Amino acid sequence: MRDSILKPRRRTRALRVGDVIIGGDAPVAVQSMTNTPTTDIDATVAQLARLARAGADVVRVSVPDPDSAAALPEILRQSEVPVIADIHFSYKMALAALEAGVHGLRLNPGNIGERKRVETVVTAARERGVSIRIGVNAGSLEKPLLERYGEPCADAMVESALGHIRILEDMDFHDIKVSLKASNIPMTVAAYRKLATRVDYPFHLGITEAGGPFAGGIKSAIGLGLLLAEGIGDTIRVSLAAEPEEEVRTGFEILKALGLRHRGVNIIACPTCARQKFDVIKTVAMLEERLAHIHEPIDVAVIGCVVNGPGEAREAELGVTGGYPVHLMYRDGEPDGKVRAEELVDRLVREVEARAAAMREQRKQRKQDD
Ligand code: SF4
Repeated sequence: MRDSILKPRRRTRALRVGDVIIGGDAPVAVQSMTNTPTTDIDATVAQLARLARAGADVVRVSVPDPDSAAALPEILRQSEVPVIADIHFSYKMALAALEAGVHGLRLNPGNIGERKRVETVVTAARERGVSIRIGVNAGSLEKPLLERYGEPCADAMVESALGHIRILEDMDFHDIKVSLKASNIPMTVAAYRKLATRVDYPFHLGITEAGGPFAGGIKSAIGLGLLLAEGIGDTIRVSLAAEPEEEVRTGFEILKALGLRHRGVNIIACPTCARQKFDVIKTVAMLEERLAHIHEPIDVAVIGCVVNGPGEAREAELGVTGGYPVHLMYRDGEPDGKVRAEELVDRLVREVEARAAAMREQRKQRKQDD
């Protein structure tokens, strides 16, 4: 990106979750979490497949009880994405998840009881090359910390994280990533900034309980955007009260907006006004729906009139500008003929699909040449 506002990426250790690398120089990974009962294998596998199609790099699955743990082997057998088991309090669930072959654990070692139990889990994780995310949440800080600080705050979150980290480091375990989540954005940002000066473990970013897609998307974009622009963050999860695919889409939009990762079609559309020569809003909605399956990074400009159209279209790979009586198509910044309103969406979809296929072919060719 020519005018990047990004600070250099924070230097972090790299770790693996299945075949996905998190931290180091790896691209910021996008995560989500299933919300089906884990015991419902078919529903969970179907949701994992939808998340994989939406582009999720890694997906977390809750393992609250033995029945859920028993479902894991089959879920893992069918999953196209690496799976992280979300564990609270029970070391037995952690062991069962490791036994099942999960690619990562999310658990707070300080919450699973006596040291012997933690050691058993850490030994099993080490043997299998499985990393552990320590997930500190402002809503569930340890009682002594709350008593000392009076209320949840960034310092208490950092101290909690350092406490959990110490337990793992004492066992010489360093395949750690850390999250410090709160629903309060300033608290979250402050906590990550503070911890960034203390450790070099990769960070999983998130604003927890952010709300529905609209408000939650905005809060996440601000919280995660601030940190990512400072070079902080190795993997993200946008938490929304919505279908998990929406979290993945929003996550990629945040990364796209910062120029950190570009996946799928990026639609550049004008806000519309009385000058628009076709229905921009409807066109964008139709394109978003019909191009959701495209993974290749392609910019498409959809601009209502010639005031801004040709300029925006010049910067995009494909574009359309409202004209009268027909509209003007652009390809790689150059005029590319005219199109009638009723053919516009079909034409753009065709062009994007053709371009995506060509990009896939080039990628395949490059791989073969390597
Ligand atoms: S590009 Fe044209 S239609 Fe779109 S907002 Fe600007 S002036 Fe209005």
